[in-house]
Amino acid sequence: MPLTDSERDELRAVIDARRDELAGEIRTGLARSRDDSFDSIAGEAPDSGDQALASLVADTDNAETNRDLRELRELDAALQRMADGSYGSCADCADDIPVERLRAYPGAARCIACQSVHEKTYSHPPEPKL
Ligand SMILES: [Zn+2]
Repeated sequence: MPLTDSERDELRAVIDARRDELAGEIRTGLARSRDDSFDSIAGEAPDSGDQALASLVADTDNAETNRDLRELRELDAALQRMADGSYGSCADCADDIPVERLRAYPGAARCIACQSVHEKTYSHPPEPKL
């Protein structure tokens, strides 16, 4: 079944809250791994929006921060799919993704069957490149 409007609104609220949380974790992670070169980069963009934040994170090799960044980008992509009306449909087979799966993992772009094929095909996902 496709998502109802209220389910979509509910998931959008979950995504927004999670994005705020991730942005905070990424800032904390950056502060922890801060070094001279980071200071000079940060000095050029003191008021980092998401995009500036993302480009700063691309320069760190902090695994946890990179994981947070990847999730943040998945959630950004999910919001984009909400905007274009494709959210909740599997990117590979176009079936509806069950709302239970989206509640557990709102950034999901695939149904469970396609996701498991995808992970087998790409068992070593590359680090985010911006
Ligand atoms: Zn699928």
